[in-house]
Amino acid sequence: MLAATRAKIAPGKLLIHGEWVEASGGRTFDTINPATGEVLTQVASATADDVDRAVRSARRAFDDPNGAWQKMTAADRGKLLWRVADLIERNIDEVAEIETLDNGKPIFESRYVDLPTVVEVFRYYAGWATKICGDTINSRPNAFTYTLREPLGVVAAIVPWNFPLLLASWKLGPALAAGNTVIWKPASQTSLSALRVGELMIEAGMPPGVVNILPGPGAEAGMGLVKHPGVDKVAFTGSTAVGKEVMRNAADTVKRVTLELGGKSPNIVLADANLDEAVKGASTGIFYGKGEVCAAGSRLLVERKIHDEFLGRLVERTRKLKPGDPLDPKTRLGAIVSEQQLNTVMAYIEAGKAEGAQLVAGGNRVSLDGGKGCFLEPTIFDGVSNHMKIAQEEIFGPVLAAIPFEDVEQAADIANQNIYGLAAAVWTSDVKKAHAIVKRLKAGTVWVNAYNLYDVALPFGGYKQSGFGRELGAQALEHYTELKSVWMQL
Ligand code: NAD
Repeated sequence: MLAATRAKIAPGKLLIHGEWVEASGGRTFDTINPATGEVLTQVASATADDVDRAVRSARRAFDDPNGAWQKMTAADRGKLLWRVADLIERNIDEVAEIETLDNGKPIFESRYVDLPTVVEVFRYYAGWATKICGDTINSRPNAFTYTLREPLGVVAAIVPWNFPLLLASWKLGPALAAGNTVIWKPASQTSLSALRVGELMIEAGMPPGVVNILPGPGAEAGMGLVKHPGVDKVAFTGSTAVGKEVMRNAADTVKRVTLELGGKSPNIVLADANLDEAVKGASTGIFYGKGEVCAAGSRLLVERKIHDEFLGRLVERTRKLKPGDPLDPKTRLGAIVSEQQLNTVMAYIEAGKAEGAQLVAGGNRVSLDGGKGCFLEPTIFDGVSNHMKIAQEEIFGPVLAAIPFEDVEQAADIANQNIYGLAAAVWTSDVKKAHAIVKRLKAGTVWVNAYNLYDVALPFGGYKQSGFGRELGAQALEHYTELKSVWMQL
């Protein structure tokens, strides 16, 4: 039996100017638990009118010099973010469970990885609030010249469904620390944790309009925000196709844009690697988060000399990894986020077979207890050529494409022959080879003898069509501020 639901899920509303309101026209959409196929609740679906209401609210909160937000000191903004972190931490079991119910990810991941990281991100940027500053540029005897680093204004934070709260915190943390106001658009598959955190933000004392939350379809709520002249910046995480559309639509009003997009990251294993560690790394690289991870190590490049042994060990490990009830603390592979996403992944599995790749593990949908959940076996294709569809396109599911290579040069070439450049990894015991290949790889993050490790202080973002701009670290703050140069003639 799937574990009973403990979190109470009330119907979701929009958060506009500190009030929970229905969408105009009363429109709602169903949000579904992918582990059971059951409707969890209905959520208000923001329309163009609601976008306009939210933008007016966020503008008022940002533009009013006598409003609570503008009168707040940087230290008080920091304390407010810290209180948000404390409240999330106090309610961590409940919020983690909501995330798991809505997304299908194992509770182990929500409770012990996503949510603690969200807390850490808010605390990290709470500390930054008092440290954002310009420079004095002392170059002329007859002038006092300096820069002011100012908030941008109204930020639209558009977030995907794979790490609903975590990726929102990467945007809200720096945006709020720098003094912006935010309209948060969660993905319609996974709005519920945003709405619960919205309640906690009100409890923490967030002034009305500083954070508005607009669940709803991307084509309406998302695009409405991107086109709205009252929005100053769009911080977008999602697919490359939608990212291109965001960029085009933002051009008319010359909005600031940062894009965190898709990936097809190479995980490269050299013959001199510690194979025990590399097998584990190849497995978590693709199967953590059900492979619905932008930086997933979805292309496994293995040096030919060790290929057979390595694949043998990886397949053996993979056969032991069974999809399970996401609410069971022992589960390490949860439910695919939706029926639609499962169908997309299954279509890629069929494409892999049709292109002549060898299916060596998984490949089938699984039913737990005869239910309607979206479960899929962890899947590995071997003998893949880099030109195949399953090696070039982001599948966004637990499907690995293994590609053999002859030497380091060829590995780097194969790794870079892709439109994406989000992340990469190399496994080797030779430091020189590691550094050489790190330089060759066109990727925003490169792990050596590790995979999927992140730190709140370390910037994250893409090369090539994986996007531009960096989240996390001090660098993120630059994307939420304008620089004003001041010249005072003496
Ligand atoms: P998506 O692009 O379909 O949607 C992302 C968000 O954009 C959602 O909130 C959606 O409602 C909204 N949206 C959809 N159409 C829109 C439009 N026309 N205008 C404005 N907003 C719109 O992506 P998804 O399926 O939710 O997420 C999966 C994708 O996200 C994958 O490609 C993955 O690689 C990427 N991703 C990237 C990173 C990163 O940091 N680079 C992290 C996580 C996910």
